[in-house]
Amino acid sequence: MLTLASLSLRLGVSGCRGGRRSIATVVSGNKTSRLVRERLALEVERMRSRFSGFRPALVVLQVGDRDDSNLYISSKLKAAAQIGIDARHVRLPSSATQDEVLQNILSVNENPFVHGLIVQLPLDSVNPMDSELITNAVSPDKDVDGLSCINAGKLSRGDLKNCFIPCTPNGCMELIRQTGVSVAGKHAVVIGRSKIVGAPMHDLLLWNHATVTSCHSKTTDLPEQVGRADILVVGAGRAEMVRGDWVKEGAVVIDCGINHVPDETKASGKRVVGDVHYASANERAGFITPVPGGVGPMTVAMLMENTVLSAQRFLLKNPAGR
Ligand code: NDP
Repeated sequence: MLTLASLSLRLGVSGCRGGRRSIATVVSGNKTSRLVRERLALEVERMRSRFSGFRPALVVLQVGDRDDSNLYISSKLKAAAQIGIDARHVRLPSSATQDEVLQNILSVNENPFVHGLIVQLPLDSVNPMDSELITNAVSPDKDVDGLSCINAGKLSRGDLKNCFIPCTPNGCMELIRQTGVSVAGKHAVVIGRSKIVGAPMHDLLLWNHATVTSCHSKTTDLPEQVGRADILVVGAGRAEMVRGDWVKEGAVVIDCGINHVPDETKASGKRVVGDVHYASANERAGFITPVPGGVGPMTVAMLMENTVLSAQRFLLKNPAGR
């Protein structure tokens, strides 16, 4: 027999509140990132035909040979190839000095045929490296990771049209848009204040007119803060820290966390979970992102979007396409 609860489960929509079990609508990063990538592929094709073979170009600079970095880079290169972006992987040995890294960055900065440059972090080097100095050596016009002080400063002042927004928060915003929930006037809570996730997420929500609370490791009343959130974005790096009973009924819950926990049922002996306890949060949220398949794929899609945006800005200044 088809009950209201089972219908709700099948459709994946929230409902049946007031004591009875309900589930949130899952906001799929796999699906949304595919739509973004398809849109970008069309845009790149348009550029190619209009500007005689012009292609957005991206350089990914890596120092060393970390397994996780290799994996992230290969997914970026694959996405770029699918979209038609000309992506080049420059790998320096872990013996490279900071000066060599800086020289490589400067030569890409000066290359007019490259529109985006990212330095894969963390740097895997045997030599001392100042990652802040290196991040800020990337020309702000090519900083498609949006991590330089110039781009972060513009974002913090609400100059969203003239900066590059860091990819993970940008992906989170895209997922929030997918829910159809308007951000303006809502109370948003962000857990985490890192340069890559939490701080830019705070700024982005603020300039999309939410009232924003930032939480971090010294926040003393995290469950209470979370309970006030119409929109909750979590980037703490703590496996399943946010419990379902903290979450406000009907909230939008965006989980950036990627944590590996032991799981004997898996061949690898581990599985990936987010920073939110999905099963319990799913019963209270209105919308929720899964892990994996939520924010993760969006990060790569947004890197591609920033690269295409950078190429568009280049073409505005150089209408001949070179
Ligand atoms: P960081 O370690 O740089 O920052 C974590 C933040 O969470 C810090 O601001 C820290 O506070 C805060 N925090 C830690 N513990 C607590 C706690 N118990 N209560 C409240 N706040 C806490 O991590 P990142 O920002 O780089 O990454 C966060 C998560 O997002 C990780 O799981 C990471 O793997 C994931 N991630 C996912 C990406 C994706 O593409 N999906 C991309 C980047 C990251 P304080 O500042 O006080 O130390």
